[in-house]
Amino acid sequence: IKKSGLLEMIPVKEEIEDIGGLVNLKKWLEKKKKIFDNLSKAIRYGVDTPKGIMLVGMPGCGKSLAAKATAKLFDMPLVRLDIGRLLGKYVGESETNMRKALKLAEATSPCVLWIDEIEKAFAGIGSDNSEVTTRLFGQFLTWMQEKDNEVFIVATANDITRLPPEFLRKGRFDELFFVDFPNADERELILQIHLRKRNQERSIDLTKIVEKTEGYNGADLEAIVKVAVENCFIEGKAFVTEKDLLKAQRKIKSISVTL
Ligand code: ATP
Repeated sequence: IKKSGLLEMIPVKEEIEDIGGLVNLKKWLEKKKKIFDNLSKAIRYGVDTPKGIMLVGMPGCGKSLAAKATAKLFDMPLVRLDIGRLLGKYVGESETNMRKALKLAEATSPCVLWIDEIEKAFAGIGSDNSEVTTRLFGQFLTWMQEKDNEVFIVATANDITRLPPEFLRKGRFDELFFVDFPNADERELILQIHLRKRNQERSIDLTKIVEKTEGYNGADLEAIVKVAVENCFIEGKAFVTEKDLLKAQRKIKSISVTL
C-alpha cells in the first residue's frame, strides 16, 4: 500500500464513544457492526454486505473522527484514498491509478476505505475540461454498485453542492449523514469527552461554557479544553475549573476572529 503512493494506512485508536453527538450515525454503525461480526451467516440469511456511507458537513465537526471510529468499531484496518494523487499527466493514467487503488483496497479487505474530501475530485463534472474526472467518477460508481467485497466506504465531503447528484442516488451509498455544528447538549458531551481524555473529568459545571460556545465546532471545543488544561498545568493548579475553561474560550474565540 505504501509503495503504491495512492493509499495510506491510517492507525486508529478513536472509539465510537469518542464522538459527541452524531447519534443517528453511531446507531446505524452499531447495527452494521452486527452484520460484519457475523457476515457469512448474514449473507446466508439474505442480508447485503454494507457498502458504505457518505458524511457531509461542516469542517471540524467530526467527519474524520467518525471515519476512524468506524474502522475501530468494525475491527478493520483504515485505508485512506487521496484522490488528488490519482490524477496523472498522461492519457489514461488517472483511470489506471483508480483501478490500482480499488484493487489494492480489495486486496486489503476486510477494510474501511476512507475517501476524504471526495467533492474535490469530482467537482466540475459536466464542465469542458472534466473528461478525466467524469470517467473516474463513472469508474468509481460502477465499482461501488457492483462491488461484492468487504470494503466499507466512508466518503467525507464539506460541500454537498459540489457533488454530482448521481452520487447521492439510492443504491450508491447505504446512507448519507449530515454533520452539523453541535447543539448545546452535544457541545457539553464533546467538552466532557475531551476533559475525560485528559483525566479532568471531575464534576465541572459546563452550563456557562456551553452557552457561550454556540457556533463552535468540535475542533474548537477540543482546543478550549487543551488550552485550559495546559494553562492549569503550567500554573501548577491541581485541576481545571469552569473559570479556566471560560478563560480559554475567550482566547479561542479571539483566535478565530483574528483569522
Ligand atoms: P474537516 O472537514 O476539516 O476534515 P472534520 O469534520 O473531519 O473536519 P475532524 O477532523 O473529525 O473534523 O475534527 C477535528 C478534531 O476535533 C477531532 O479529531 C476531534 O478531536 C474533535 N472533534 C470534532 N468533532 C467532534 C465530535 N463530534 N466529538 C468529539 N470530538 C470532536
